[in-house]
Amino acid sequence: MSIFKNGKSVSKSAAFALLKDLSVCLLVLTGATLLGCIFKAFHLADADIILLYIIAVLVISIFTSKIHYCLISSVIGVVLFNYFFTYPEFSLSAHGAGYPVTFVTMFITALIAGTLANQLKRNILIAEQNAREKEEAALLAQNEQLRANMLRSISHDLRTPLTSISGNASTLISNGNTLDESAKNQIYTDIYSESMWLIEMVENLLYSTRIEDGKMQLTITVEILDDIVREAVKHVERTHPKRSIKVDMHDEIVPVKADASLIVQVIVNLCDNAVKYSADDTDIYLSVSREREFAVITVSDNGIGIPEEEKEKVFDMFFTGSRRSSDSRSGLGLGLALCKSIISSHGGTISISENTPTGTIVSFTLPIGEVDLNE
Ligand code: ATP
Ligand code: MG
Repeated sequence: MSIFKNGKSVSKSAAFALLKDLSVCLLVLTGATLLGCIFKAFHLADADIILLYIIAVLVISIFTSKIHYCLISSVIGVVLFNYFFTYPEFSLSAHGAGYPVTFVTMFITALIAGTLANQLKRNILIAEQNAREKEEAALLAQNEQLRANMLRSISHDLRTPLTSISGNASTLISNGNTLDESAKNQIYTDIYSESMWLIEMVENLLYSTRIEDGKMQLTITVEILDDIVREAVKHVERTHPKRSIKVDMHDEIVPVKADASLIVQVIVNLCDNAVKYSADDTDIYLSVSREREFAVITVSDNGIGIPEEEKEKVFDMFFTGSRRSSDSRSGLGLGLALCKSIISSHGGTISISENTPTGTIVSFTLPIGEVDLNE
């Protein structure tokens, strides 16, 4: 906020506060005087009119920012009462013998009432501020707790494959000579797959740090979707050589407005889920089509599926479903959350539906781009 940034803004807001306080004083005292005139017309006693001014000072104390206004309005209240309502009227002289005492009493009563009202207002404001500060502190503590839990969970998930890799490597170092070829190959494969898993995990974690308020910073260019899909499929086939991915691109060249590396990451994450949550002997299908000004990319599997009540939650960060994959290694629950922020930052949508007879279909859209033929 600019109020605290430069002297000019500060003096501007101070002038505004002064104007507001003076207007309150003027309005309330004028109102009390007008009401006093009405009281007088109905022949009500002086004491009733004095009460009006005391109430006016009370109101002013509540609605102005400084206690000075209470003092000033107490004085002005007495002067106004003297001027308009004591004999002789419309003059500052008062002929009644008791008037000086009345004026002093009126002034003191107004001042005390105003000061008390002001004090009360202050106490309420302080109580409100204390409550707010307490709430903020609680929220901060909760965030800290959340961050600590998150870090613990991430570290735990990352430690498991690291332990396995170092264990396997140590076996190779100490007993390498005694192992036969197939045992050695098994260890090499394990090390490879554990480190690939780690790389994917860290990749997602790194991308997640780029999300701000659910959105991600993008470098958008017009890309040919087929190239992006091919690159992603190549990556998935390398990490899951045993699985077959059937790609259907409808022979059409689809230009999209996208940050290519991020879309590759989305497709890799979706295929990774399809692989992880389906049996090894089932296929994974990837298709690309065009619907008016959007390209639609679909990844489907015949795996364990997602229960209806989890379909929205799977896009939350760190949510992992209740159904476990055959592969006992559970993920961090980052994949789909990342996909969603990447796709919505592109102006597309991502959704989940059921596959028949079993499994999951995840579809996302990307805006079609214009290809510049002169390039
Ligand atoms: P990460 O992707 O971070 O390694 P993850 O796969 O558990 O971990 P997400 O990709 O965000 O996390 O998926 C969230 C949850 O949604 C998964 O834990 C799983 O339960 C469910 N899920 C996602 N894709 C599928 C799928 N194709 N079939 C069945 N369940 C799925
Ligand atoms: Mg995943």
